[in-house]
Amino acid sequence: MARTAVPRRLGDRLRWSTAELVERRYESATAQTLALAVPGWPGHLPGQHLDLRLTAEDGYSTQRSYSLASAPDGDRIELTVQRVADGEVSPYLTDDLAVGDPVEVRGPVGGWFVWRPEEQSEPVLLVAGGSGLVPLMSMIRVRRAVGSRVPFRLVYSVRGSEDRIYVPELSHGEPGLDTTFLYTRTTPSGWPRAAGRLTGEDLARWGWPEDFEPTCYVCGPTGFVETAATYLVGNNHAPERIRTERFGPTGG
Ligand SMILES: Cc1cc2nc3c(=O)[nH]c(=O)nc-3n(C[C@H](O)[C@H](O)[C@H](O)COP(=O)(O)OP(=O)(O)OC[C@H]3O[C@@H](n4cnc5c(N)ncnc54)[C@H](O)[C@@H]3O)c2cc1C
Repeated sequence: MARTAVPRRLGDRLRWSTAELVERRYESATAQTLALAVPGWPGHLPGQHLDLRLTAEDGYSTQRSYSLASAPDGDRIELTVQRVADGEVSPYLTDDLAVGDPVEVRGPVGGWFVWRPEEQSEPVLLVAGGSGLVPLMSMIRVRRAVGSRVPFRLVYSVRGSEDRIYVPELSHGEPGLDTTFLYTRTTPSGWPRAAGRLTGEDLARWGWPEDFEPTCYVCGPTGFVETAATYLVGNNHAPERIRTERFGPTGG
């Protein structure tokens, strides 16, 4: 049984299936959550992503990866797409795709950058740069959905307060989740920390001490992720407890 069951499940994840846009929500001026109905979606772990493929009438096809933002919810999944102004796929998803339109998806993908609530009881540090918050939000939502009491800390770096996503959800004071906003370009008036990029001191102050042995999840643009991971190692976090996901080549 096991020898046939495992390849079949893997085959399901590698197969493209047709999803339909069922709802769109605005998270910021440039980021939107797209809810998709995916018949037969096998479920996912928080932190995983999927591949999304678009095909034009002339047969041209292109694909990108998007993290799952939602907790598992049957055939409904949510992605949050940050519009990259000169991008090929993200402006189509945010500006042109209409409710009822199809897209192809394949997944879920990824087995390392995941949080498994039934196996992991250690504290969790989430470090997000911009839209890198998306898979980390799935972890927060799953924590809530399963009633986990694992303590979470989120350090979320964005250019300015208008760039933040999921603000209502992050602002309602969830027990066991401490959220710190860091602004790289402009701060709200009277904000105690000057605008600037993430530092090792920020992570030491707002993250967990290394002797708590947290698992650290870092996600965002490539440069952000590499810098943040280097700071965590510099703060004596064991490299094997730092898990990273890179969204794109540049930016911050
Ligand atoms: C595992 C994984 C998960 C991802 N999850 C998400 C997600 O949840 N939400 C999301 O919005 N994106 C996510 N991305 C990024 C996404 O796959 C695309 O790269 C992004 O939407 C841009 O695609 P595009 O076609 O619009 O731009 P492209 O046409 O591919 O690129 C256009 C220009 O934008 C630059 N660029 C490309 N990507 C980025 C970026 N991420 N940041 C800054 N500049 C960029 C390119 O260098 C180029 O100059 C994820 C990427 C990976 C690898």
